[in-house]
Amino acid sequence: MSVYERLGVPTALNGVGPATRLGGLPLHPSVLEAMNEAVAQPVRMDALQAAVGRRLAGLLEVPAVYVTSGASAALFLATAAVMARGHADLIDRLPDTTGMKNKVIIQAAHRDPYDHAVTSVGATLIEIGYPESTHPGELERVIDDRVAAVLFRPGRHGNLLDLESTARIAHQHGVPVIIDGALFVPPVDRLRAFFAAGADLVAVSGGKGFRGPQASGLLCGRRELIEVVGLHHQDMDERDTTWPSNQATSTPATPPRHGVGRPMKVGREQVIGLLAAIERYMANPGADEECGIAELGHSEEVLRTAGIPVTRHHEAALDVPYLRLDLAATGQRVDDVVRALAARPVPVYLGEAEAWCQAVTINPMALSHGDGRQLGEAVVETLADLRGQPARRD
Ligand SMILES: *Cc1c(COP(=O)(O)O)cnc(C)c1O
Repeated sequence: MSVYERLGVPTALNGVGPATRLGGLPLHPSVLEAMNEAVAQPVRMDALQAAVGRRLAGLLEVPAVYVTSGASAALFLATAAVMARGHADLIDRLPDTTGMKNKVIIQAAHRDPYDHAVTSVGATLIEIGYPESTHPGELERVIDDRVAAVLFRPGRHGNLLDLESTARIAHQHGVPVIIDGALFVPPVDRLRAFFAAGADLVAVSGGKGFRGPQASGLLCGRRELIEVVGLHHQDMDERDTTWPSNQATSTPATPPRHGVGRPMKVGREQVIGLLAAIERYMANPGADEECGIAELGHSEEVLRTAGIPVTRHHEAALDVPYLRLDLAATGQRVDDVVRALAARPVPVYLGEAEAWCQAVTINPMALSHGDGRQLGEAVVETLADLRGQPARRD
């Protein structure tokens, strides 16, 4: 009996991809093995972070790296680092931002539910522009001496400020640019391109394209900013008299107490698991997607054979193919299909980003051997069942 059977929690078929609400992606046995080895011995976490950070910075060819519990945590720690830097008094004070820069500028088109990662540190978001356009002057006019950073989200469309112009204007005023690169890295070329275009800090998910532990992520960026992140994050049960104040130029003379980032701690298994996953990715980029992509082909075949209108597309951010099911053409409504799939003995979850045009999508990343056919058959059965029922009226 599996651990989930014992608990009475049904395991699901995940056609959404790296979704946190579904627990993320299956981990490769070599990643699990590294995590297993990591937990056998105690280790000083600041020393581990420094060593893994150097290793990852070399592999990814970025200035410096710190391992976090996710991209969201990386955005949070980036915000804390640009606001309070390495000042022990300011670190102790957060999320009260008295005496420090506390504004973070964002284009209206870049707003996102993950903005809580920034505001929960105590920062105030200053929104500029409109959902489909931002003018350079709108950024220039709001920069004052209370601005701690500009937050930039790639992949949004419209007449928006691109990263180069955002960084140029921000840097003219000494303001750093933080990028929410959660969904966009890997490919690693994109990470390097963010830095080439002027990024100071980039938040990346460990549990998405890198296929690392679900609660892992990276903050990549300028060395002097990355060096202070640990002060906001690590367990600071240190005494002044034995505090290692000379480890880095940015280490304060006396240690702050636990920073605002302490609740989002990472374990050594996450740090080592993410390192193993990224090493695996770098040795053969994209190879671990092949199984899921083959499974996607099996879903497609089952759906096509049953006459369900399905088309194949490419997901630009995650860089994988996906299927789109046009439910309007089947006479079914997205909400009915989503509810019926979730009510199955093995619940099925599909992507709902295109629900507004009565379509659902299937992402291959979480599909293991045999899942593709099973998922396709579940969708075919569900649509047949719904056709046999009177339509819901709500
Ligand atoms: C997934 C995602 C995040 C959060 O990443 P985690 O690693 O789950 O914390 C943040 N921003 C965007 C745009 C994302 O897609």
